[in-house]
Amino acid sequence: MSALAETSAPKAPRRITSWRLLLNNRLATAGLVLLGLVALMIVLVPILPLPDPDATAPADRLKPLLTAGHLLGTDQLGRDILSRLLWGTRVSVAVGFAATLIAAFVGSAIGIMAGYAGGRTDNAMMRGIDMLMAFPYILLALAIVAALGPGLMNALYAIAVVNIPFFARNVRGVTLGYVHREFVDAARLSGKGNLSIVLTEILPNVLPVIVITMSTTAGWMILETAGLSFLGLGAQPPQADLGSMLGEGRAQLFTAPHVSIVPGVMIFLIVISLNLLGDGIRDVLDPRLRSGALARPGPVTEVASGRAVPANAAAGAALSIVGLETGFRRGSEIVPAVRGVSLHVKPGECLGLIGESGSGKSVTALSIMGLVASPPGLIRNGAVYLGNEDVLAMPETRLIANRGSRVAYVFQDPLTTLHPMYPVGRQVEEAIAAHQSISAAACRERAVGLLNKVGIPEARERAKHYPHQLSGGQRQRVGIAMALANDPEVIIADEPTTALDVTVQARILELLRDLQRERGMALLFITHDFGVVSEICDRVAVMKDGEIVETGETREVLANPQHAYTKRLIACVPELGMGEHFLKGVAGLFPGRKEQPS
Ligand code: ADP
Ligand code: MG
Repeated sequence: MSALAETSAPKAPRRITSWRLLLNNRLATAGLVLLGLVALMIVLVPILPLPDPDATAPADRLKPLLTAGHLLGTDQLGRDILSRLLWGTRVSVAVGFAATLIAAFVGSAIGIMAGYAGGRTDNAMMRGIDMLMAFPYILLALAIVAALGPGLMNALYAIAVVNIPFFARNVRGVTLGYVHREFVDAARLSGKGNLSIVLTEILPNVLPVIVITMSTTAGWMILETAGLSFLGLGAQPPQADLGSMLGEGRAQLFTAPHVSIVPGVMIFLIVISLNLLGDGIRDVLDPRLRSGALARPGPVTEVASGRAVPANAAAGAALSIVGLETGFRRGSEIVPAVRGVSLHVKPGECLGLIGESGSGKSVTALSIMGLVASPPGLIRNGAVYLGNEDVLAMPETRLIANRGSRVAYVFQDPLTTLHPMYPVGRQVEEAIAAHQSISAAACRERAVGLLNKVGIPEARERAKHYPHQLSGGQRQRVGIAMALANDPEVIIADEPTTALDVTVQARILELLRDLQRERGMALLFITHDFGVVSEICDRVAVMKDGEIVETGETREVLANPQHAYTKRLIACVPELGMGEHFLKGVAGLFPGRKEQPS
C-alpha cells in the first residue's frame, strides 16, 4: 500500500524543494552568489577589455590601487594586477576543480570496488590507501611534484593523488553499509551482473556522499594548488595563478602590500564561499534534514497559537480528544494528516482505532502527548483532555513529566524502540526511575516483577539479556512491561501485534486485555485488523483519510456497519474457506481511496 502511494507521488516537487531548502540557508546562498560572481568573471575574462596579463612595463612598477588604467595597481614588473588576478583565478579554479574531479572519480571507484568486493580485494586496496594516508599529504604532494618536475599539470596530478584517500575511505564506508541490504540481494537474484548492480543499485545511494565530499574538499584543493604555486612548484613564470601571485608579491609585502593582498583576498573569498555552499549542500542532501526545515525536531509538537479549543465532550473519560487537527508543513503550505478527530476512552475501557495504513492513526496517537516531530508537524486545532486538563495547554516540562507516567505508549516494532546495547531489565528499570525516586534495589525488584507479570519466564535471568536475544513476542512483552512501569491511566498501543505471528499475537492481546481489566486502565488500541478489534475492544472508531467515519460498540459495528468503508474493512478479515470473496473485499478498498499526499 505504501509502495502504491510512493510511486504515484509526483517526482518534480522534490527537486524544487531541495533547491528551495538550499536557498533557505542564508550562508549557503551567500556562498552560491559569491561563487556565481567569480564564475561569471572567469568565464568572461577572454572578452573583457583587459591588458595582457604578462606584458611587463618597468616604468609603471608598483602603481597603487585605483591608478588610471590599472584599477588594482601594478606589480613589481609593471603588470596589470586586475588582469593577472582574473586570469590567475581562472587557472587556480580550473586546476582545483579538475583535481577534485579526478580525485572524486578515482577515489570513489576505488572505494566502491573495495566495499563491494570485500575480502582480499578490499584489504589490498585499503592498505594501499592507508599507505598514501600515512604521509603528511603536503609533503607527499611536494615529493610527487619534485619527482615529476614543477609545472601546473604536475601540481594538479599531485593534488589529485593526495586527495584520493579521502574519497576512497568515505565511499567505501558507505558502500559497505549497502552491499548486504535486501535490495542489492534482490538485484543479484534477478540476475543482474556486478557492474550493473554497482552502477544502478549502489552508486545512486553513494552519490550524495561523493557530492558532499567534493563540495567540502574543493575549497581545500584550490588552497593546495595555491600553496604549491606559492612555493614555485605550480604555475611557472610568467603565467599567473593565485598562489604564484601571492608568492611574487611576498617580497613587496611592506612597500606595496596590495600586490599580495589582492590575490590573498581572492583566495579567501573563493574558499569561504565554496565551504559555505558545501555545508549547505550537505544539509540539503541529508535526508533527515530534507523532510523539514533545517532544524532538529523540538521536544514537543508545535501547537498553533490561535487553535480552537473545544470543551471536553466526554465527562469522566480518562482520555478525551476533541476536534484534533494535525498537519505537516511542506514548504509554506500545511498538509493535513488528521482532521477533526474526536474520541474518548473511559477508565477500564478499550477503544479500538482502526483504519488502513496511512489513514492517520499513528499521527492521532502521537499528537496526544505532543510526540509528532515538529517541524514538520503542527497541531492546528483541537484539545486533548487527560482527566479534565488540556494536555496541549500544559507547560512543556509538565507535559514531558506526564509521558510514561500517566500516558504510556507501546509501539509496533519493539526491536527499534528497545536500546540494543542495554539488557532489557535495565531498560525497564530506567522507565521506572524516570518517574519514581526509589532505591536501585527496589527498582530492580520492581522491574523483575513487571517482567514476570507480562509473562516472561525466568524473569530474573531474562532481565540480563539483550533485546536481540529475545524473540519478537518477548520483546513486545518487555515493551508492555515498560509501559506498565508507572501504572499509567492510559495506554496507547500502536499496532503492537502487527509485527508478530498469529499465535504470539493472540497471547499478547490476551495479556494486554487482562492487564487492562485488572488495573482499570484506559486502552487506546490501534490496528488495521478488525479481527483483533473484535477480540479485545469494547468500542471501535473507524478512521479513513484522517477522519473518524464511524464509532460505536464493537458488537454493533461488527453486526451492522453503517459506513461503506467499515463494511469493506470487515470484509478484509480472512476466514478459512472464503476463497475468492476475500480478495474481492480487499480489492474493494482501493477505488474509494483518495490520492494521499506523499
Ligand atoms: P497510519 O494510519 O498508518 O498510522 P500515519 O498516522 O502514520 O498513518 O500517517 C498519516 C498521514 O500522515 C500519512 O499520509 C503520512 O504520509 C503523513 N505523515 C506521517 N508522518 C509524517 C511526517 N513526519 N511528515 C509528513 N507527513 C507525515
Ligand atoms: Mg501507524
